[in-house]
Amino acid sequence: MNIKALNGFKDILPGEVELWQRVESVARDIFARFNFSEIRLPILEHTDLFARAIGECTDIVEKEMYSFVDKQITMRPEATASLLRAVIEHGLLVQKPVQRLFTIGPMFRHERPQKGRLRQFHQLDVEVLGSASPLADAELMALGASLLVELGLAVSLELNSLGCPACRPAFRANLLNFLRDRHAALCNDCKRRCTTNPLRVLDCKNPDCRAQVADAPSLHTHLCDDCASHFHAVQEGLKQLEIPYRLNKFMVRGLDYYCRTTFEFITGDLGAQAAVGAGGRYDGLIEQLGGPPAPGIGFALGMERLVLLLQQQAAKAVGAGLDLFVAGIGEHPCRHAFALTHALRQGGMRVAMDHEGRSLKSQMKQAGKAGAAFVLILGDQELASGQALLRNMNTQEQQEIALPDAAATIRAIIRS
Ligand code: ATP
Ligand code: MG
Repeated sequence: MNIKALNGFKDILPGEVELWQRVESVARDIFARFNFSEIRLPILEHTDLFARAIGECTDIVEKEMYSFVDKQITMRPEATASLLRAVIEHGLLVQKPVQRLFTIGPMFRHERPQKGRLRQFHQLDVEVLGSASPLADAELMALGASLLVELGLAVSLELNSLGCPACRPAFRANLLNFLRDRHAALCNDCKRRCTTNPLRVLDCKNPDCRAQVADAPSLHTHLCDDCASHFHAVQEGLKQLEIPYRLNKFMVRGLDYYCRTTFEFITGDLGAQAAVGAGGRYDGLIEQLGGPPAPGIGFALGMERLVLLLQQQAAKAVGAGLDLFVAGIGEHPCRHAFALTHALRQGGMRVAMDHEGRSLKSQMKQAGKAGAAFVLILGDQELASGQALLRNMNTQEQQEIALPDAAATIRAIIRS
C-alpha cells in the first residue's frame, strides 16, 4: 500500500526548510526589537472557545473547523482565541495591564487546498492586549511592514475601520437597505450573510457581488466621533512612521469580533491567495471571554505565503543573471545578433542568444525562462530599416534602437 500525506497537509523538506528558518529568525528578531514576548499554546481547545471568540456565523466556525469527540474538541484554526484564553486563565493582564505577545505554530482549517492555501498551515501571530491607543494599531502595522521589508518582500498594506457597537448598527441598517434591491443578484453565501452578517457582503470575492456593492454606502462616513478620531490617529501614526497604506472601505475581515481598525498585507503575486497577513482590533472580546474589560488588537502572517513569495523572489533572482536576450530571426539577422551579443559581452553585459534558428515565440519563451531583463528583436525587416526593437520584460514597453550604435545605446538603457 502506498500511503501518502493527507490532502492539504505538507512536508517541509530540506532545501525549503531553510526559508522557514529564515522567516522565523527575522520575525523573532523583529518581535524582540518591538518588545514582544513569546507564548506557546496547545493545538487542541474546547470547540466553544472558537465558537464564542471567532463567531458562530463565520466561515471558519461554520465550515472550516476540525472538530472531534462529539465536536467538543477542535484543532485551533487561528491563534487569537487560544492566546486570549491563556491570558485570561493565567491572569496575565492582572500582573501587567498591557501584554505584548507573539506565537508561532500550525493552524488547521478544512478548506479547499490550493497554492498558498493548506489545511495545516502556519502563522506568526502578534497581539497587543490592554491598549486602546491608536498608536498601538500603527505600531503593530509598522511591525508587520518592517518584517516584510526585512525579508525583502514588496507587499502593500490596506486599512479600514469597521466602527464599533455604537456606530455600526446604523451603518448596518443603511447597508441592508442598499442591499435589499440587489438581493437577487447576490451569491448564495451573500444572500445568507444579509441575515447573519451583512457587512461581509462588502468583501465577497464573487465578481457579481463586487459589482453590486461597488457604490454601497461607506463605513467611513458612518463612524461615530470616537471611531472617526481613532481612525484618523491611526493614519497619522502610520504617516509619522512613513508606512505606506491604502484605505479599502470594502475590507471586512471574516472574524465577527473585529471593531475599528482592520488591515491586510496584500500581494499581487499569489493569485487568489492575496492576503499574506491580516488582523484587526477586537475591543470587548477579552471581556466577552470572561476576562477583564481590556481592549486588544492583533494580526497574523501566513508562513506558507511568505515562503512562497521568497521562493518566487529567489527564482527571479537566479534568472536575473541575464541582462539581455538577443532574438535573431532568420540567417542574416542571426549573424548580426552573433556579433552584437559578443560586443555586449565584451562590454561587461550578461547576454544570451539562440543558435538553433527557433521561432520568435520560442525565443521569447527562452528569454522569459532565463529571466532576461530585456529582449532585443532583430529580423530581416529590422535589419533593412536599421532599427531593432528592445523590449523591457518587466514593463513590456518596447523602443526602437538604431542598429549602427546598438551596443552603446543598449548598454546605456540597461545600466540606467
Ligand atoms: P483568506 O482570505 O486567504 O482565506 P483569511 O482571512 O481566512 O485569509 P486569516 O484568518 O486572517 O486569513 O489568517 C491570517 C493569515 O493566515 C492569512 O493572511 C494567510 O496568510 C494565512 N492563512 C489563512 N488561511 C490559510 C490557509 N488555509 N493556508 C495558508 N495560509 C493561510
Ligand atoms: Mg480564509
